[in-house]
Amino acid sequence: MIDIGEAQRQVLEEIPVLGTERIHILEALGRVLAQDVTSSRNVPMCKNSAMDGYACRHEDLVGTTLQTPARLRLVGESPAGKPYRETVGAGEAVRITTGGVIPPGADTVVMVENTELQDQFVAIFAAPPKGAHIRDAGEDVKAGELVLSQGTVVRPPEVGMLATLGHAYVHVFQRPIVAILSTGDELVDLDEPLTEGKVVCSNSYSLAAQVTECGGIPISLGMCSDDGEEQQQRLYQGLRADVIVTSGGVSVGKYDLVQDSLSQVGVNVKFWKVAMKPGKPLVFGTIGNKPVFGLPGNPTSAMTSFEQFVRPALLKMMGHTRLFRPTMEAVLAEDVPSEPGRLHLVRCALFEENGQTMARSTGTQSSGALRSMVLADGLMIVPPVEGGFSRGAKVKVQLLHSNAPLVASSPFW
Ligand code: AMP
Ligand code: MG
Repeated sequence: MIDIGEAQRQVLEEIPVLGTERIHILEALGRVLAQDVTSSRNVPMCKNSAMDGYACRHEDLVGTTLQTPARLRLVGESPAGKPYRETVGAGEAVRITTGGVIPPGADTVVMVENTELQDQFVAIFAAPPKGAHIRDAGEDVKAGELVLSQGTVVRPPEVGMLATLGHAYVHVFQRPIVAILSTGDELVDLDEPLTEGKVVCSNSYSLAAQVTECGGIPISLGMCSDDGEEQQQRLYQGLRADVIVTSGGVSVGKYDLVQDSLSQVGVNVKFWKVAMKPGKPLVFGTIGNKPVFGLPGNPTSAMTSFEQFVRPALLKMMGHTRLFRPTMEAVLAEDVPSEPGRLHLVRCALFEENGQTMARSTGTQSSGALRSMVLADGLMIVPPVEGGFSRGAKVKVQLLHSNAPLVASSPFW
């Protein structure tokens, strides 16, 4: 039995980063850039106005006050997208809108709120400093500048930046194809009769959802019985994927044959059993450079093991360098027992009380219970300490969902 950190280290050591592909920027959300992106252009391309108002020469505004307004002759307009091409001369102004190109000769923009249009003249009641409200060419990005580097995760701002720089397509790391096999004589699929002793094969679905959630592509190898030969056949089919994930049949029962089946098809088993609860009987191995994860069958064990081992591995394959869920400190709202000899990952909900983030268990922590997983914001990390932890103690909580924990108050109120 090895500890969870050591197991993660051993898994990640074996994980290759996949190749790259070129995709449209609208497909690139959540993907990792496999290229540097350097700008071939200035953004903005030329000097333009940050305000609706009038472009003029600052020297014409000297001495301007509310009582002694400057009076400039309106000679034209420079709305966004339709530049005014003449030179703005002494005593002249050009009406301009946000994004409009600053015409030659003008060096300052007066905001419309400080002006009044009087026939062909504009009265200006307050002089801004010279250069006011003008965005310089290249103020955001200069031509030749490195803007996005390889390894950047594409979020909506990156999509916008790629578009701004004129890239419709971009090179990213590939997504792994993950073959999922569920083993167990008792399993039936959703559309099959649930007779006594049968269990709906929920793992096929929850594991596929976990693969999709972190950006991988799940393919199903279906369900298979606790029969070595059938398992091997299915596993052979899985070899076309980048990763194989099985569930069930890795414990010490008479019908737990998956580890042997993995060996039979050529998987080089690196470790079996991790000192964690839930999820102790995990098998990890490789075949060629493909990682193979034999997860336990209990629904929550399978999901928790996926979280700790498969997810970081898939993220690494996709070029990510930040592989782990964030943790936060929370105060225990109740006593929590610890588990002798292994780390207990306790499904918990987070809530706010007196300005503190509190954590409480979401109910039965049986490895088979999925309900407490449904209710969980995260997993309390409870080390094996004699006597466990008392209410009021501080624990670390691994946050399981990108939108968790929701807090009661907005940061902007
Ligand atoms: P095992 O790991 O094969 O010993 O299975 C442990 C428990 O998980 C048993 O109660 C199984 O019925 C249950 N189980 C195994 N595979 C699945 C699955 N694919 N979906 C839901 N429950 C499962
Ligand atoms: Mg079984």
